[in-house]
Amino acid sequence: MEENKEKNIVNKTIIVTGASRGIGAEIVKLLANENYNIVLNYNKSENKAKEIKENLLKENKAIEIFKADVSKREEVKKLVKFTLEKFKTIDILINNAGIASEKLFTEITDEEWATMLNTNLNSVFYCSQEVLKEMINKKQGCIINISSIWGITGSSCEVAYSTTKAGINGLTKALAKEVGPSNIRVNALAPGIVETEMNSYLSDQEKNEIKEEIPLNRIGKPSDIAKCVKWLIEDNYTTGQIISINGGWYI
Ligand code: NAP
Repeated sequence: MEENKEKNIVNKTIIVTGASRGIGAEIVKLLANENYNIVLNYNKSENKAKEIKENLLKENKAIEIFKADVSKREEVKKLVKFTLEKFKTIDILINNAGIASEKLFTEITDEEWATMLNTNLNSVFYCSQEVLKEMINKKQGCIINISSIWGITGSSCEVAYSTTKAGINGLTKALAKEVGPSNIRVNALAPGIVETEMNSYLSDQEKNEIKEEIPLNRIGKPSDIAKCVKWLIEDNYTTGQIISINGGWYI
Protein backbone atom coordinates (compact mmCIF):
# COMPACT_ATOMS: atom_id res chain seq x y z
CA MET A 1 0.00 0.00 0.00
CA GLU A 2 2.77 2.38 1.03
CA GLU A 3 4.63 1.50 -2.17
CA ASN A 4 1.59 2.34 -4.35
CA LYS A 5 1.21 5.67 -2.62
CA GLU A 6 4.83 6.53 -3.39
CA LYS A 7 4.38 5.66 -7.07
CA ASN A 8 1.51 8.12 -7.36
CA ILE A 9 3.48 11.12 -6.11
CA VAL A 10 4.08 13.51 -9.00
CA ASN A 11 5.79 16.46 -7.27
CA LYS A 12 4.29 19.01 -9.62
CA THR A 13 2.56 22.15 -8.46
CA ILE A 14 -0.55 23.65 -9.99
CA ILE A 15 -2.13 27.06 -9.39
CA VAL A 16 -5.84 27.21 -10.20
CA THR A 17 -7.23 30.75 -10.16
CA GLY A 18 -10.83 31.42 -9.13
CA ALA A 19 -11.27 27.92 -7.73
CA SER A 20 -13.55 28.45 -4.73
CA ARG A 21 -16.57 27.25 -6.72
CA GLY A 22 -17.83 26.17 -10.15
CA ILE A 23 -15.40 24.89 -12.78
CA GLY A 24 -12.25 25.85 -10.85
CA ALA A 25 -13.34 23.95 -7.72
CA GLU A 26 -13.97 20.82 -9.82
CA ILE A 27 -10.54 21.14 -11.47
CA VAL A 28 -8.94 21.35 -8.01
CA LYS A 29 -10.75 18.26 -6.74
CA LEU A 30 -9.85 16.16 -9.78
CA LEU A 31 -6.20 17.20 -9.89
CA ALA A 32 -5.69 16.85 -6.13
CA ASN A 33 -6.69 13.22 -6.57
CA GLU A 34 -3.92 12.88 -9.15
CA ASN A 35 -1.51 13.87 -6.37
CA TYR A 36 -0.40 17.24 -7.68
CA ASN A 37 0.40 19.97 -5.16
CA ILE A 38 -2.45 22.43 -5.48
CA VAL A 39 -2.77 26.13 -4.71
CA LEU A 40 -6.45 27.07 -4.83
CA ASN A 41 -6.86 30.80 -5.42
CA TYR A 42 -10.07 32.52 -4.35
CA ASN A 43 -11.21 36.09 -3.89
CA LYS A 44 -14.54 36.48 -2.09
CA SER A 45 -15.71 32.93 -1.28
CA GLU A 46 -13.39 32.20 1.65
CA ASN A 47 -15.67 29.68 3.38
CA LYS A 48 -16.05 27.62 0.22
CA ALA A 49 -12.29 27.61 -0.32
CA LYS A 50 -11.69 26.53 3.29
CA GLU A 51 -14.25 23.73 3.00
CA ILE A 52 -12.56 22.33 -0.13
CA LYS A 53 -9.19 22.48 1.63
CA GLU A 54 -10.48 20.72 4.75
CA ASN A 55 -12.07 17.92 2.72
CA LEU A 56 -8.93 17.34 0.65
CA LEU A 57 -6.67 17.44 3.71
CA LYS A 58 -8.75 14.61 5.20
CA GLU A 59 -7.63 12.58 2.17
CA ASN A 60 -3.99 13.62 2.72
CA LYS A 61 -3.85 15.75 -0.41
CA ALA A 62 -1.31 18.57 -0.81
CA ILE A 63 -3.55 21.64 -0.93
CA GLU A 64 -3.13 25.28 0.08
CA ILE A 65 -5.58 28.13 -0.42
CA PHE A 66 -4.68 31.77 -1.09
CA LYS A 67 -6.87 34.86 -1.29
CA ALA A 68 -5.92 37.14 -4.17
CA ASP A 69 -7.86 39.35 -6.53
CA VAL A 70 -6.16 38.25 -9.75
CA SER A 71 -7.29 41.40 -11.55
CA LYS A 72 -4.49 43.16 -9.60
CA ARG A 73 -0.80 42.64 -10.41
CA GLU A 74 0.37 43.09 -6.79
CA GLU A 75 -1.99 40.40 -5.51
CA VAL A 76 -0.92 38.00 -8.27
CA LYS A 77 2.71 38.53 -7.24
CA LYS A 78 1.78 37.54 -3.67
CA LEU A 79 -0.03 34.42 -4.95
CA VAL A 80 3.05 33.32 -6.90
CA LYS A 81 5.41 34.09 -3.97
CA PHE A 82 3.19 32.09 -1.61
CA THR A 83 3.16 29.11 -4.02
CA LEU A 84 6.95 29.07 -4.36
CA GLU A 85 7.39 29.32 -0.59
CA LYS A 86 5.03 26.41 0.02
CA PHE A 87 5.93 24.04 -2.81
CA LYS A 88 9.23 25.42 -4.27
CA THR A 89 8.02 25.04 -7.86
CA ILE A 90 5.20 26.06 -10.22
CA ASP A 91 4.66 23.66 -13.11
CA ILE A 92 1.11 24.30 -14.25
CA LEU A 93 -1.13 27.38 -14.25
CA ILE A 94 -4.87 27.20 -14.85
CA ASN A 95 -6.23 30.68 -15.57
CA ASN A 96 -9.85 30.04 -14.67
CA ALA A 97 -11.06 33.08 -12.67
CA GLY A 98 -13.74 34.99 -14.47
CA ILE A 99 -16.92 37.04 -14.28
CA ALA A 100 -19.77 37.48 -16.75
CA SER A 101 -22.48 40.08 -17.22
CA GLU A 102 -25.24 40.75 -19.70
CA LYS A 103 -25.93 44.29 -20.85
CA LEU A 104 -26.66 46.21 -24.02
CA PHE A 105 -23.35 47.39 -25.49
CA THR A 106 -24.57 50.99 -25.57
CA GLU A 107 -25.14 50.92 -21.79
CA ILE A 108 -21.81 49.49 -20.62
CA THR A 109 -19.97 52.04 -18.47
CA ASP A 110 -16.20 52.62 -18.59
CA GLU A 111 -15.96 51.18 -15.09
CA GLU A 112 -17.84 47.99 -16.01
CA TRP A 113 -15.71 47.57 -19.14
CA ALA A 114 -12.50 47.99 -17.12
CA THR A 115 -13.62 45.54 -14.43
CA MET A 116 -14.42 42.89 -17.05
CA LEU A 117 -11.10 43.35 -18.85
CA ASN A 118 -9.08 43.40 -15.63
CA THR A 119 -10.76 40.31 -14.20
CA ASN A 120 -10.98 38.09 -17.28
CA LEU A 121 -8.09 39.17 -19.49
CA ASN A 122 -5.50 41.19 -17.57
CA SER A 123 -5.52 38.47 -14.88
CA VAL A 124 -4.31 36.02 -17.54
CA PHE A 125 -1.56 38.47 -18.51
CA TYR A 126 -0.47 39.00 -14.88
CA CYS A 127 -0.62 35.36 -13.78
CA SER A 128 1.07 33.99 -16.92
CA GLN A 129 3.84 36.59 -16.81
CA GLU A 130 4.57 35.98 -13.12
CA VAL A 131 4.72 32.16 -13.39
CA LEU A 132 6.66 32.20 -16.66
CA LYS A 133 9.73 33.58 -14.86
CA GLU A 134 9.89 30.25 -13.01
CA MET A 135 8.83 28.07 -15.96
CA ILE A 136 11.31 29.55 -18.45
CA ASN A 137 14.16 28.96 -15.97
CA LYS A 138 13.15 25.32 -15.71
CA LYS A 139 12.38 24.94 -19.43
CA GLN A 140 9.13 23.25 -18.55
CA GLY A 141 5.55 24.36 -18.03
CA CYS A 142 1.91 24.22 -19.00
CA ILE A 143 -0.61 27.06 -19.03
CA ILE A 144 -4.31 26.43 -19.61
CA ASN A 145 -6.66 29.37 -20.05
CA ILE A 146 -10.39 28.95 -19.57
CA SER A 147 -11.90 30.88 -22.44
CA SER A 148 -15.44 30.56 -23.80
CA ILE A 149 -17.47 29.74 -26.89
CA TRP A 150 -18.31 33.47 -26.96
CA GLY A 151 -14.67 34.37 -27.55
CA ILE A 152 -14.95 32.44 -30.81
CA THR A 153 -18.39 33.37 -32.09
CA GLY A 154 -19.43 36.41 -30.01
CA SER A 155 -22.52 36.81 -27.85
CA SER A 156 -25.14 39.52 -28.17
CA CYS A 157 -25.44 41.58 -24.95
CA GLU A 158 -22.12 40.11 -23.78
CA VAL A 159 -19.73 42.20 -25.85
CA ALA A 160 -17.36 42.92 -22.96
CA TYR A 161 -17.24 39.26 -21.91
CA SER A 162 -16.81 38.08 -25.52
CA THR A 163 -14.01 40.61 -26.01
CA THR A 164 -12.07 39.28 -23.02
CA LYS A 165 -12.41 35.68 -24.17
CA ALA A 166 -11.40 36.53 -27.76
CA GLY A 167 -8.40 38.32 -26.21
CA ILE A 168 -7.53 35.15 -24.28
CA ASN A 169 -7.66 33.16 -27.52
CA GLY A 170 -5.22 35.55 -29.22
CA LEU A 171 -2.94 35.59 -26.18
CA THR A 172 -2.97 31.78 -26.08
CA LYS A 173 -1.89 31.34 -29.69
CA ALA A 174 0.79 34.06 -29.66
CA LEU A 175 2.25 33.05 -26.30
CA ALA A 176 2.36 29.39 -27.35
CA LYS A 177 4.61 30.38 -30.26
CA GLU A 178 6.82 32.54 -28.03
CA VAL A 179 7.40 30.06 -25.19
CA GLY A 180 7.23 26.80 -27.14
CA PRO A 181 11.03 26.80 -27.58
CA SER A 182 11.26 26.84 -23.75
CA ASN A 183 9.19 23.64 -23.65
CA ILE A 184 6.13 25.46 -22.29
CA ARG A 185 2.71 24.65 -23.71
CA VAL A 186 -0.13 27.20 -23.72
CA ASN A 187 -3.69 26.18 -24.58
CA ALA A 188 -7.23 27.34 -23.95
CA LEU A 189 -10.50 25.56 -23.40
CA ALA A 190 -13.59 27.24 -24.81
CA PRO A 191 -16.59 25.72 -23.00
CA GLY A 192 -20.13 26.23 -24.20
CA ILE A 193 -22.60 26.37 -21.32
CA VAL A 194 -21.66 24.75 -18.01
CA GLU A 195 -23.89 24.24 -14.96
CA THR A 196 -22.44 26.73 -12.41
CA GLU A 197 -23.49 29.86 -10.50
CA MET A 198 -22.41 31.88 -13.54
CA ASN A 199 -25.60 30.70 -15.26
CA SER A 200 -27.89 30.78 -12.23
CA TYR A 201 -29.82 33.69 -13.78
CA LEU A 202 -31.21 31.36 -16.49
CA SER A 203 -34.71 29.92 -15.92
CA ASP A 204 -35.38 26.18 -16.36
CA GLN A 205 -37.22 26.97 -19.56
CA GLU A 206 -34.27 28.95 -20.94
CA LYS A 207 -31.92 26.07 -20.05
CA ASN A 208 -34.21 23.59 -21.81
CA GLU A 209 -34.25 25.76 -24.91
CA ILE A 210 -30.44 25.84 -24.92
CA LYS A 211 -30.30 22.04 -24.44
CA GLU A 212 -32.40 21.63 -27.57
CA GLU A 213 -29.69 23.44 -29.55
CA ILE A 214 -26.87 21.22 -28.26
CA PRO A 215 -26.27 18.03 -30.29
CA LEU A 216 -25.22 16.08 -27.17
CA ASN A 217 -28.50 17.30 -25.68
CA ARG A 218 -27.25 18.40 -22.28
CA ILE A 219 -25.64 21.31 -20.50
CA GLY A 220 -22.00 20.72 -19.60
CA LYS A 221 -20.90 19.76 -16.09
CA PRO A 222 -17.84 21.25 -14.36
CA SER A 223 -16.40 17.70 -14.34
CA ASP A 224 -16.51 17.65 -18.18
CA ILE A 225 -14.18 20.65 -18.21
CA ALA A 226 -11.96 19.30 -15.42
CA LYS A 227 -11.38 16.03 -17.31
CA CYS A 228 -10.30 17.95 -20.40
CA VAL A 229 -7.89 20.04 -18.27
CA LYS A 230 -6.36 16.82 -16.89
CA TRP A 231 -5.93 15.45 -20.40
CA LEU A 232 -4.22 18.66 -21.58
CA ILE A 233 -1.83 18.58 -18.63
CA GLU A 234 -0.83 15.00 -19.34
CA ASP A 235 -0.44 15.61 -23.08
CA ASN A 236 3.02 16.60 -24.39
CA TYR A 237 2.51 17.84 -27.94
CA THR A 238 -0.59 20.08 -28.01
CA THR A 239 0.03 23.81 -27.89
CA GLY A 240 -1.59 27.03 -29.13
CA GLN A 241 -5.01 25.39 -29.39
CA ILE A 242 -8.44 26.72 -28.47
CA ILE A 243 -10.33 23.54 -27.66
CA SER A 244 -14.08 23.80 -28.10
CA ILE A 245 -15.72 21.74 -25.37
CA ASN A 246 -19.37 22.52 -25.91
CA GLY A 247 -21.35 19.33 -26.70
CA GLY A 248 -21.35 20.34 -30.35
CA TRP A 249 -23.26 23.60 -29.69
CA TYR A 250 -20.87 25.48 -31.98
CA ILE A 251 -18.83 23.48 -34.49
P1 NAP B 1 -18.46 30.81 -11.20
O1 NAP B 1 -19.15 29.60 -10.70
O2 NAP B 1 -19.17 32.12 -11.19
O3 NAP B 1 -17.05 30.94 -10.43
C1 NAP B 1 -16.20 31.99 -10.72
C2 NAP B 1 -14.92 31.84 -9.92
O4 NAP B 1 -14.03 32.91 -10.28
C3 NAP B 1 -15.15 31.92 -8.42
O5 NAP B 1 -14.38 30.93 -7.77
C4 NAP B 1 -14.62 33.33 -8.07
O6 NAP B 1 -14.02 33.39 -6.79
C5 NAP B 1 -13.54 33.50 -9.10
N1 NAP B 1 -13.20 34.92 -9.33
C6 NAP B 1 -13.96 35.89 -9.89
N2 NAP B 1 -13.29 37.06 -9.88
C7 NAP B 1 -12.08 36.81 -9.31
C8 NAP B 1 -10.95 37.61 -9.02
N3 NAP B 1 -10.91 38.93 -9.31
N4 NAP B 1 -9.88 37.04 -8.42
C9 NAP B 1 -9.89 35.71 -8.10
N5 NAP B 1 -10.94 34.91 -8.35
C10 NAP B 1 -12.02 35.45 -8.95
O7 NAP B 1 -18.01 30.63 -12.72
P2 NAP B 1 -17.61 29.34 -13.56
O8 NAP B 1 -18.77 29.00 -14.42
O9 NAP B 1 -17.00 28.31 -12.70
O10 NAP B 1 -16.51 30.01 -14.50
C11 NAP B 1 -15.13 29.67 -14.47
C12 NAP B 1 -14.50 30.10 -15.79
O11 NAP B 1 -15.14 29.39 -16.86
C13 NAP B 1 -14.67 31.59 -16.11
O12 NAP B 1 -13.51 32.09 -16.69
C14 NAP B 1 -15.82 31.60 -17.11
O13 NAP B 1 -15.77 32.72 -17.95
C15 NAP B 1 -15.54 30.31 -17.86
N6 NAP B 1 -16.70 29.78 -18.57
C16 NAP B 1 -17.83 29.43 -17.90
C17 NAP B 1 -18.93 28.93 -18.62
C18 NAP B 1 -20.22 28.56 -17.95
O14 NAP B 1 -21.21 28.33 -18.68
N7 NAP B 1 -20.28 28.44 -16.64
C19 NAP B 1 -18.85 28.80 -20.00
C20 NAP B 1 -17.67 29.15 -20.64
C21 NAP B 1 -16.61 29.63 -19.92
P3 NAP B 1 -14.71 34.07 -5.47
O15 NAP B 1 -16.13 33.60 -5.44
O16 NAP B 1 -13.87 33.52 -4.37
O17 NAP B 1 -14.56 35.55 -5.62
